[in-house]
Amino acid sequence: MSENTKIEWTDATFSPWIGCSKVSPACDHCYAEVSTPARALGVTWGAKEERHRTSAGNWKLPLRWNAQHGEFFTAHGRRRRVFCASLADVFDNAIGAQWRFDLLRLIIETPNLDWLLLTKRIGNVFRLVSDVRSHDWLAGRDNVWLGATICNQEEADRDIPKLLAVKARVRFLSMEPLPGPVDVFSAMTGELLHTSGDDYEPGAIDWVIASGESGASARPMHPDWAASLRDQCAAAGVPFLFKQWGEHAPNNRTMAEVEAAERGYTFVHYSATQPYPIAAMDRVGKKAAGRLLDGVQHDGFPGSAA
Ligand code: SF4
Repeated sequence: MSENTKIEWTDATFSPWIGCSKVSPACDHCYAEVSTPARALGVTWGAKEERHRTSAGNWKLPLRWNAQHGEFFTAHGRRRRVFCASLADVFDNAIGAQWRFDLLRLIIETPNLDWLLLTKRIGNVFRLVSDVRSHDWLAGRDNVWLGATICNQEEADRDIPKLLAVKARVRFLSMEPLPGPVDVFSAMTGELLHTSGDDYEPGAIDWVIASGESGASARPMHPDWAASLRDQCAAAGVPFLFKQWGEHAPNNRTMAEVEAAERGYTFVHYSATQPYPIAAMDRVGKKAAGRLLDGVQHDGFPGSAA
């Protein structure tokens, strides 16, 4: 609900409602559930718990951002990106048709904004959009980017085909947190037709965001998991954004130095079937861990270089 978000890949966040239920390992440490707005409003997470629609004043914010387009474009040379929803899931089954209808109408009324609809329920998109608009509504919206959160191979295999089945101007993956290695592209050879400019080609992923986890219970991300995604994107010509390491950073010490160190490191195997290389991750905190991957900051966006 803010236009001063610190999230690296968006300019503003908008929460039409607050509340959700956990549907993925990516939800294990849901920050929205313990966020200040959720706690202040007493919103409880759960499939049958009541969701809280945000205020009419909050719903006017995107209209204001839309009206400020000229100013924003002059300052940044591009349109404002709005992440929806940061304290809920747009395609949560528990949300009734009226609220979603209102949200889609707001998207229509704000053509100067790029709406980033990110969901952990990509399988619901077609049905829930069809409930309130025509089934191909998303395909005709130039200002909607549709994203699926993917945190492991099982979700990649299950949900990427569902994302590819929905026509949208931009389709992207958010891989945060990343508690294991994921092979995104090799299984999709032949489908990976990169879109750019105004040409729409079915079967494309236009952007991948990867990130480690932050927060008290954050899981460490093996450096090779992130590097693999970077390399897969480079090979496929897909823009890649590395958001952050999260709480745990890799370190440059030798294993002997790590073992001799007085403080503890977290050892991460590459995978259950391929234990090596083992990474010794250092809990230094999100800020110190930063967002360089092999010394490089990756800030790819759709339409830009990876
Ligand atoms: S989908 Fe998002 S908001 Fe909902 S429980 Fe999962 S992480 Fe939290």
